[in-house]
Amino acid sequence: MPAPPSPAAGDATPPPSPPAERQPVFVLRDLARTYTMGEVEVVALKDVDLDLYQGEFVVILGASGSGKSTLLNILGGMDTPSAGTIRYLDHELTNAGDTALTSFRREHVGFVFQFYNLIPSLTARENVQLVTEISEHPMDPVEALKLVGLGDRIDHFPAQLSGGEQQRVAIARAIAKQPDILLCDEPTGALDFRTGKLVLEVLDHINRVLGTTVAVITHNAAIAGMADRVIYISSGHITRVESNAHRISPAEIEW
Ligand code: ADP
Ligand code: MG
Repeated sequence: MPAPPSPAAGDATPPPSPPAERQPVFVLRDLARTYTMGEVEVVALKDVDLDLYQGEFVVILGASGSGKSTLLNILGGMDTPSAGTIRYLDHELTNAGDTALTSFRREHVGFVFQFYNLIPSLTARENVQLVTEISEHPMDPVEALKLVGLGDRIDHFPAQLSGGEQQRVAIARAIAKQPDILLCDEPTGALDFRTGKLVLEVLDHINRVLGTTVAVITHNAAIAGMADRVIYISSGHITRVESNAHRISPAEIEW
């Protein structure tokens, strides 16, 4: 058997240790986002090159103001870059219009934010149903709530649930439409340590059981160990990408 060709010196370096046999779903090249505030230009992202792979769990780690939310908004089709390119599989998102971005978000992306944004007058099940009713291939809302460990809370109203439980309802709502990617912006930011870990365990479980690609944005370095890859961002730049040989269980995280 002939040996497979080895890459010649001078070939483009592959991205740092992509998980084996996985295809990139997102490809970002030379991406920038600037906000113009009157006379002032704020550079939120610059020179961003990034590949995200099918089924991986990434943590995007950086200080407040480093550009994490800007990056997540662009990945999720809520914003477009000022320069550079972003592609999701065969969807060219770079110059996509509102209609294309809306259908991209609807079909492919689930969002989880720091604050849960549940409707107070609706039960957990009804909050999830809001999404499943307008989705093409939804999960049963009760199944989604069982997946986040709330099978015994389906008829509770948000006010009858703890902060961590409300966040788990928000996660159930995000996964119920069966998105390809789950984008989470500081999902434990409003939670205490113990409840925050439970929420991270749910995200880990979703990634492992459903194979959903998960990106978690955080300023909390302790979370990095649960990821397949950690993307460090500072002043709008990706400064480093690390692969973890082993993902630690969120239960083992200390902060
Ligand atoms: P992070 O999520 O890491 O805290 P952001 O992506 O929210 O960072 O912000 C990155 C930079 O861009 C910050 O300097 C912030 O002030 C600026 N920025 C974010 N959103 C806007 C906006 N809508 N208008 C102007 N500046 C913004
Ligand atoms: Mg942010």
